[in-house]
Amino acid sequence: MRLLPRRKKPFELDTRLAHTGRAPSEHCGMVNVPIYRGSTILSDTLEDWESKKTQDNPMANYGRFGSPLTRSLEAAVCDLEGGYRSILFPSGLSACTHALLGLLKVGDHLLISDSVYGPTRIFAERVLKRLGIDVEYFAPSDTADLIARFKPATRVVFVESPGSMTFEIQDIPAIAEVAHRQDAFVVLDNTWATPLFFKPFEHGVDISIQAATKYIVGHSDALLGIATANERAWPALQAAAHDFGETAGPDDIFLALRGLRTLSVRMKQHHESGLRLAEALQAHAAVARVIHPGLPHDPGHAIWQRDFRGASGLFGVVLKPMSRSQLSILFKNFNLFGIGLSWGGFESLALLVDPPKRCVPTGGCDGPLLRIHAGLEDVQDLIEDMCGALDSALCVETAA
Ligand SMILES: *Cc1c(COP(=O)(O)O)cnc(C)c1O
Repeated sequence: MRLLPRRKKPFELDTRLAHTGRAPSEHCGMVNVPIYRGSTILSDTLEDWESKKTQDNPMANYGRFGSPLTRSLEAAVCDLEGGYRSILFPSGLSACTHALLGLLKVGDHLLISDSVYGPTRIFAERVLKRLGIDVEYFAPSDTADLIARFKPATRVVFVESPGSMTFEIQDIPAIAEVAHRQDAFVVLDNTWATPLFFKPFEHGVDISIQAATKYIVGHSDALLGIATANERAWPALQAAAHDFGETAGPDDIFLALRGLRTLSVRMKQHHESGLRLAEALQAHAAVARVIHPGLPHDPGHAIWQRDFRGASGLFGVVLKPMSRSQLSILFKNFNLFGIGLSWGGFESLALLVDPPKRCVPTGGCDGPLLRIHAGLEDVQDLIEDMCGALDSALCVETAA
């Protein structure tokens, strides 16, 4: 399949987003790769059948291993992440768990960032420990703490930068240098930054994961995971996906490819609106602290500026202490912010987050913690909606 028009000089990002992973001449001129539904893939001759096992992708002989649609999304995301190969999973969590299962064996030591996505942590606690893997957590923004926890048996360092809920930025190049000195792998959950705002393989990552459910799909209407590996990690990643029978449904893949085409324009807006909303909230009387690596006072700001090309629309807000009834009023007064899990769609969300489970003490999260997703609505409308709801919550206190 021809996946990109040929030219000597590489095309710029926005051009690649519009053109990678599709080949109209191979699909009756259709602009988008059509949805392929199928389990059985027929061969014309015995030779044709046998050749399918020896091609570059040795698993093109059965629907579970995907279709031209699967290869299209994999090729497009691999190009953007800058890796060697990509493979799809039915969800973002599934991409995380199978990357870990592919690399780890009994007796290995796994280091995980303390602010990792909750279900990844539950998987490590419930499944990996049961399989005899030594699981340990490190302080996400303290590289010295991580280095001190390295053991000869350390096989994988799992990072997520910034971390879920508390948004600590990690020094990935420094972490990768230590890990690679002893042949360990660095696996990154790159969902927050997307392949546009953080280039994992330029910073020493071995496997990069996208919960495509979030920004790549971008419309809150499909679930999908994508893991991209460098050449060293690829055989283990591919084997894990195939051995466990992981496969992604064609409709979800189609929606992810459709979302990918507009990723760049959407991310520019999420970046700008997220920052403007964060700045407005910083000035509000009900707010103790805004956690957003794009803000100059943020502890992760310097590394974010060095390593990232932008910020997504997801950030945290620590409120000054508030009663339960004030919190209820706050959420009742949102007109534009939906209350619900996931993020990365076109619409804004707000969530009251449970105190995050941590092994390494982290300061600065004493009041109620909100996770906010700035969507694609007019940013001034978003600021007025959020600040107005906070005003109402404060009024209750004064009235009481
Ligand atoms: C949502 C999320 C996931 C999991 O994605 P699903 O598609 O919901 O399984 C993984 N990592 C991060 C950082 C996420 O936000």
